[in-house]
Amino acid sequence: LNFAIGLTGGIGSGKSTVADQFAALGASVVDTDQIAHSLTAPGGSAMPAIVAEFGAEFADAGGAMDRARMRQLVFSDAGAKARLEAILHPRIRDAALAAGEAANGSYVIFAVPLLVESGTWRQRVSRIVTVDCPEEVQLARVMARNNLTKEQVLAIMANQASRQQRLEAADDVIDNGGEVAALAPQIARLHELYLAISKRSAT
Ligand code: ATP
Repeated sequence: LNFAIGLTGGIGSGKSTVADQFAALGASVVDTDQIAHSLTAPGGSAMPAIVAEFGAEFADAGGAMDRARMRQLVFSDAGAKARLEAILHPRIRDAALAAGEAANGSYVIFAVPLLVESGTWRQRVSRIVTVDCPEEVQLARVMARNNLTKEQVLAIMANQASRQQRLEAADDVIDNGGEVAALAPQIARLHELYLAISKRSAT
C-alpha cells in the first residue's frame, strides 16, 4: 500500500460514524476493532494461542474468548494485559494489512482506536486523521451509549492518549463536537484530498 490513512479518536469520539461516511464515498475502511473481535470469536485464529497462554477457562462454551473474564484479569494484572496484547496486536496488524491489500476502494482507511499509542501503526500509515470532540462531550456520549458511570468512562479515557496528543499526531482533524450533520462537509473535503494524494502516490 503506497498510501493509507489512519483514522483515530478517543473512545466515543465518533470514529465509526466518520468511517461509515468515508466508506459511503468509496473509501475502503478496515476496522481493527472488528478484526480484533473476529480473531477472538468462535474459531478465531487467536483462540488457540489465548487458550494455550491463559487456559481453557478463558474460552466460553462456543469457543469464543470469555470477554468478561479476560477483562477482569487484565484490569488487575498488567503482565496479563501485555501477554494478551502480544498475542492480539501482531495478528490484528497482519489481518488488517492483508485486508487493506485486498481492498478495492479508491484508497484505504485503517480505523485504529489506539493509533497514536502505537509506533507500528504510526509508521505504517501515510497520514493520520483524528476525530476530535471535547472530553465532556465524549464522556456524555459513552455514558449514554454503554450505560457506564462517569468514573468508569474516565478510567477508560485515562488509559488512552490525551485529546492533545491525538491532535498533535494528526495531519487532519475532524471536529465532531457538534451535530452529526456537521460531519459530511468535513469528510467530503478530506475525501477529495485523499483521492488526489492517492492518485499522485500511485504514479
Ligand atoms: P468507540 O471508540 O467506542 O468505538 P467511536 O469513536 O467509534 O466509539 P461512535 O460509535 O461513532 O464513536 O460514536 C459514539 C456514540 O456517539 C454513538 O452512540 C454515536 O451514535 C454517537 N455520536 C457520534 N457522533 C455524534 C454527534 N455528532 N452527535 C451526537 N451523537 C453522536
